Formats: sequence, structure tokens, C-alpha cells
Amino acid sequence: MPQAEQPRELVIPPPRADRPPLRVNVFNAMQKANTTLTLLFPYLHAGAIVPASSLFLGGPGQDYGQFYHHNSVDEVIIAFAANEATLETGQVYTGGRVHGVNSFLKDQTRPGSFALFTVTQRQLDEGPQPEALSLICSACRKQLFKCEFDGASSPEAVELDHPFATLVVPQEQLREFNADAARRTCPDCGHVNAPFPLRAWGWDLYASQSAAMAQARQALIRASAKGSE
Ligand SMILES: [Zn+2]
Repeated sequence: MPQAEQPRELVIPPPRADRPPLRVNVFNAMQKANTTLTLLFPYLHAGAIVPASSLFLGGPGQDYGQFYHHNSVDEVIIAFAANEATLETGQVYTGGRVHGVNSFLKDQTRPGSFALFTVTQRQLDEGPQPEALSLICSACRKQLFKCEFDGASSPEAVELDHPFATLVVPQEQLREFNADAARRTCPDCGHVNAPFPLRAWGWDLYASQSAAMAQARQALIRASAKGSE
């Protein structure tokens, strides 16, 4: 008689001592985040589940523009709270592997409108994790800009040593794109596209504060070594 198949035992090992479970209140986190997409926890290693939080605010003259995100891993979106937005409070969904990203507001110039949601992805255990950000011509939709990069994490990555690639890698190239009207001019229809509003997304602040905090950490390590001489 064939033996009944034993159910496979699924065991989640306890967390490592240097990766204690953490808890964050998303409302409090977004009260003071410096970017529209903020990692809620420092863990960014291969295999890590990485929840980020996002906040968009409507107001006079507000313009977040739009980009396309190309991801090779799934993103799970949970709308924590939204007002006059294209997301409903409590809505949960997974985005396509290529998806447009804008303010998620019905009218981004409307004061009092907001969208607060989390975006969670799981870093691959190994191998490349291709990711890209692209912009299209606002008049005819021809692709004008594409920044491709590897979103994979090293086995021990934490955010301080490895700032979130999605925020820091494209913003460097976007600065060059913004500064060059020729690159923003559509080769098909001749439309001169507006610069990408980096300031509204806060990626420039995240990148500069990330670089400063990496240096600050080294300064503290040097001072402590000097103190123990
Ligand atoms: Zn065009």
C-alpha cells in the first residue's frame, strides 16, 4: 500500500538577534517622511519583505507629474486612508509589473485631498531583480527617458548602507534629463516636455540625507576610535 504523503512542515525561523521585529505607525511615519515613498523598516536584505509608505497631498499648483515603474517583483498596495483620490480607504491590490505612477489624486490641485498607502515588495533571495523608471512624452506618449537598474539586495543590506535604489538611482539621471531641454524635446512630435518634478517627490532630499547620514555614521565611528586610543 502506498504510504500517505506526509504534509510538508512549514517553519518560519525566529528572527536574527540583529533583526528584531519592529512596529511602525504609518500615520506617524508619514507625518515626517522626506519623500513620497519611505521605507518603514531598515531591513533591505535579500529575501526581506520591504514595506514602504507613500503620501500624496493635493494643493494649489501641486503637480507630481507621472512616470512608469517597471518592476520584476510584485507590489502589494494597501490604501490606509484616502480623500478625493483614485484609491479607496481600505483598498488592497497588486500593481502590474509595469504601471503608471502619479499622485493617485482625482485633482492634485485640490486642497484637502490626499492618498496614504503602503507598497510592499519582497526582495528576491538571489539573482538580479531588474527594475526601471521611464517617462513618456506628455503630447504623444513616446518614451523619452528610461533608467534601468538592479533592485536586488545584498544578503546583509540595511537601508543606511544601501539607500533604496528605486529612489536614489533614477533621480541622478533625472537631474541630467531635467537640465537638458534637448533630451526633453520629443523626437517624434517636437513637444518640449516639462522637467520631472523631483522636488515634489522628495527623492532629491532622500538621496542627499542618505549620503549625509552615511558620512555622519563614519564620523561617529572615527570619533569613537580616537576616543579609545
Ligand atoms: Zn511627443
